[in-house]
Amino acid sequence: MVEVHVVPALTDNYIHILHDAAHGVTVVVDPGEAAPVRAVLAERGWRLTHILATHHHGDHIGGITNLRADSHAMLIGPRAEIDRIPEMDATYGEGDLFTLGSQTVRVFDTPGHTRGHCAFFFEEARLLFSGDTLFSLGCGRLFEGTPAQMWDSLLKLRALPGDTRLYCGHEYTASNLRFALSIDPENAALKARAEEVAALRAKGLPTIPPRLLDEQAANPFLRADDPGLAAHFGLAGASPAAVFAAIRKAKDDFRG
Ligand SMILES: [Zn+2]
Repeated sequence: MVEVHVVPALTDNYIHILHDAAHGVTVVVDPGEAAPVRAVLAERGWRLTHILATHHHGDHIGGITNLRADSHAMLIGPRAEIDRIPEMDATYGEGDLFTLGSQTVRVFDTPGHTRGHCAFFFEEARLLFSGDTLFSLGCGRLFEGTPAQMWDSLLKLRALPGDTRLYCGHEYTASNLRFALSIDPENAALKARAEEVAALRAKGLPTIPPRLLDEQAANPFLRADDPGLAAHFGLAGASPAAVFAAIRKAKDDFRG
């Protein structure tokens, strides 16, 4: 049994803390700063055992040095970013499996946002930590990759079980929602998600973790192979990667 705490950090980041009491394992994913993690650990009386990093950006790794000074927690990250994330104890890549407490963790290489970005899927609990690759109703900006690479990365994550819970790196859902509705206004799943998001944000609550099933139906960046979206962009018959590129470009230019 794993419990997950979603911890708001910095401007709009989320840090995720997992605790597996039976195994004495406590894991933090993408600690962009140490203070809010320390506060949760102190309040709960937990000792940090592992740190997972999805990619090298400072708002995902900025707290690691201070957290390791407290606990000597093992730092695990993407093999493809071995020269960009300091002092990793273990690195993994596509298809690798490792064990954390009760969980088998499967690693996906998800290049696009950064060259070496990875995602972690906790198989038994069906928890996906997607960093800045997949957001609720959105996806990460393409700083170091092509649209085709990012589409391939997203296809790997889309293929996971529908009851998987998506834990992403930022609270961008409301902004993503405005864009998604602008290109896909008749999507019933998207309209249902809009009501849910409005209710959560009105209470100041996180909009995550959504079910992957709902993202598969509502997130335009997971639907680049949908004929309706292709038609919206005048790309009927084009490759999904080309449609994905058009969606990403439109989002980059969107002011809504
Ligand atoms: Zn990033």
